[in-house]
Formats: sequence, structure tokens, C-alpha cells
Amino acid sequence: MQNITILGSTGSIGMSTLDVLARHPERYSVYALTAHSRVEQLAEQCLKFKPQVAVVGSADAALRLSRLLQEAPQIEVLHGAEALCQVASAPACDAVMAAIVGAAGLASTLAAAKAGKKVLLANKEALVMSGQLFIDAVKQSGAVLLPIDSEHNAIFQCLPHNYDRSPAALGVEKILLTASGGPFLTRPLDTMDAVTPAQAIAHPKWVMGRKISVDSATMMNKGLEVIEAHWLFGAAASQIEVVIHPQSVIHSMVSYIDGSVLAQLGNPDMRTPIAHALAYPERIASGVGALDLTVIGQLQFSRPDLQRFPCLKLAYDALLAGGSAATILNAANEVAVQAFLDEKIGFGMIAQLIARTMDSLPLCAVTDIEMLLEQDRLARQTVNALIS
Ligand code: NDP
Ligand code: MG
Repeated sequence: MQNITILGSTGSIGMSTLDVLARHPERYSVYALTAHSRVEQLAEQCLKFKPQVAVVGSADAALRLSRLLQEAPQIEVLHGAEALCQVASAPACDAVMAAIVGAAGLASTLAAAKAGKKVLLANKEALVMSGQLFIDAVKQSGAVLLPIDSEHNAIFQCLPHNYDRSPAALGVEKILLTASGGPFLTRPLDTMDAVTPAQAIAHPKWVMGRKISVDSATMMNKGLEVIEAHWLFGAAASQIEVVIHPQSVIHSMVSYIDGSVLAQLGNPDMRTPIAHALAYPERIASGVGALDLTVIGQLQFSRPDLQRFPCLKLAYDALLAGGSAATILNAANEVAVQAFLDEKIGFGMIAQLIARTMDSLPLCAVTDIEMLLEQDRLARQTVNALIS
């Protein structure tokens, strides 16, 4: 029996994780569930899955949750960032699904890595902003890091079993990261300024949280995934190629020096990578139906247009620049996306604000978490000043 903590259980990935866990009660129990403000939803989950601990964002939310959990007084209710780290690193917990969105998930995801847990990583922003520090924490503790992001999970499945962040050692030439292209793949460029938040979050293939949906529309999501692939698989920027594949059936590929290309295919449903990582190296049912290629008929591929998707180029630039660049990119993006969702800026401004923030902050090496958080803070301050 494995005892699981889900950080961000009320989100899109969190709910898909609970869906998979519910199919295998003999294999998994829930140690802790966490949410930020959706207290009612968390209470329902708690009554169904009976975790030992539930965590919310504030004291007020904790009070409301405790009231809703009167019939389950054995569930301990905690609140705040420290409590997230506590449930991510508790001795009673075996595996942690890191599914909080954005930099808010960094501390707890890192706490799981430092505590040597099996870390199921959905929260790509945590890895993008902390890079080497995160990889070092995993190495030092002996944690097992398994990717949930569908592309990285696909790549993981296509790599040799004994792969250890060194492409050349095992004949890996390139990682081919597929991208759907999002809702604006063919929208006339001169109409992009008129994009509304509702249009941006209407993804053609995946149902996801609001932030990652906007990231998919700008293709910053793919940019963050390029950086994520760099850290997970030790590949240089030049070995990570983005391929537009609108059907989202091939979730990514690995190209070998002998000319072989291995791909992982499946219906676009996050329960597949979640089930894969939960049970790894075994396989369990996920609830996802079998792929019928005869129904899909055609698979298409093309190169991304960097004029249409400037955020993708900004992410490659940040990866090549190294140091604090990815931390600044990520922070600037989070603030700009929120401003777009709040209708304070237009869609096209997202990339412009990130570029201007990256240009105006000097790069530095990031050798500890305090420096990292300072760079994150400076970037947020800079974008906010540019917006107002
Ligand atoms: P959602 O917005 O659907 O869910 C986010 C979760 O994080 C919610 O449980 C939310 O709680 C919680 N949360 C939000 N802010 C905070 C905070 N400040 N402190 C603590 N908890 C917080 O996001 P997704 O599930 O879509 O994405 C989660 C992560 O997974 C992201 O990093 C994303 O990039 C990654 N990912 C998602 C995929 C998808 O298909 N959705 C695919 C691949 C990666 P509350 O509900 O109370 O607000
Ligand atoms: Mg992805």
C-alpha cells in the first residue's frame, strides 16, 4: 500500500489523480490533500478519500474546512505554506503528486525532493525556476523523480531504462517535443490583440487549469517544457526540438543515433501519465480508453512559427542564457498571464512584458534558494511596474 500526498488536489491534475487512485483502493491510500481556496471541493474530496491531513491556504479557510469536516474529526486540518512542506515530507507519506500551479508549488515540491520521496512532478514551474538546485536535491536524497507532464512522461517511456541524464551515453540524439499549437495555431496574426481570456483558455485538445491553458495559447507552456526537458533529461537546448502536432496523439518522441525514433501515443488524457508514474515500473488501468488510430486517420507535423509564438523563443533564450534567466522568465510570465486573465493587458502584451523584464534585469548565478526567491521577487516587481 502506498500512501500519497496530492499537493493541489482540487485542480485539474489533482482531480485526475484522485480518479486514478479511486480505481485502485488496494494499492493506494491518501495521506494528505491540499487546496488553496476551493474549500467546499476539498471537503468533498476529504469525505470520500479520508486523508490523515488536509491543508488550505489561510486560517479562515481552515476554519471553514473544519466545519465542513465535522463528521470526520480524525482528519487534521492545517493551513499555510509550512503545512504544505510538512505533508510533502512527512515520514508517513511515500509519494507526492506535485500539482500546485506556478511558483507557489516550489517550496513543497522541493521539500518532497529533499525528503527522498517518490516525486510525481506536474508543477513544471518549480523545476524551471530552480533547475540545478532541484536536481541536486533529488540526487542528494535519493528521491525518485517521475514526470507527469504528458510530453516528459512520453519521453521518459521512450528512453532506455538505465538512462541517467546523459543523452550521448546511450545513443540519444534528440528529443522531439510535440505541441498541439493551442487555440491560435492558424488565427490571423493581425487579430491576436483581440484575443479574450475565454478564447485563450479554450484549448482544442486538453482540459486544464487557467494558467497552463493561457501558457498553451502563447506556447510559453512549450517553452517551459523545453527547459523542463533540459533538467529532467540532461539534453542541451540544441537537442530539444519542438514539433507542432495538432492531433495531440503522439505525446513526444526520442530520436536515436541509429535513425530510430521512438514515440509514445495515446488519447489526450492526463490520467495516462498519472497512472504510469504512480505505478512505475508496473502498469495499472487509468480509465483512459484505447487509442483507435483508424478513427483519428491522419497525424500532422510542422515547425513552430516563432513570429506567431514569441514566448517559445524567449524560453529558448532563457535556457541558453542560464543562471537566473529561467527564474525571471517564469516569474514574469506568471504575473503577465494573471494580468491578462484579469483583463488588465492584451494577449500580445504577455510576450512583450516578459521580454522587457528579461532585458532589464541583470543575470546572475543562482546558487541557493534565497537567491532564487530574490530573483523571482525582482522579476515580479519589474513586470508589475511595467504594467502599472
Ligand atoms: P489548476 O489551476 O487546475 O489547479 C491548481 C491547484 O493548485 C489547485 O488545487 C489550487 O487550489 C492549488 N493552488 C493554487 N494556488 C495555490 C497557492 N498559492 N498555494 C497552494 N496551492 C495553490 O492547475 P492544473 O491542475 O492545470 O496544473 C497544475 C500544475 O500541473 C501546473 O504546474 C501545470 O503546469 C501542470 N500541468 C498541468 C496539466 C493539465 O493537464 N492540467 C498538464 C501538464 C502539467 P484551489 O483549487 O483551492 O485554487
Ligand atoms: Mg505538457
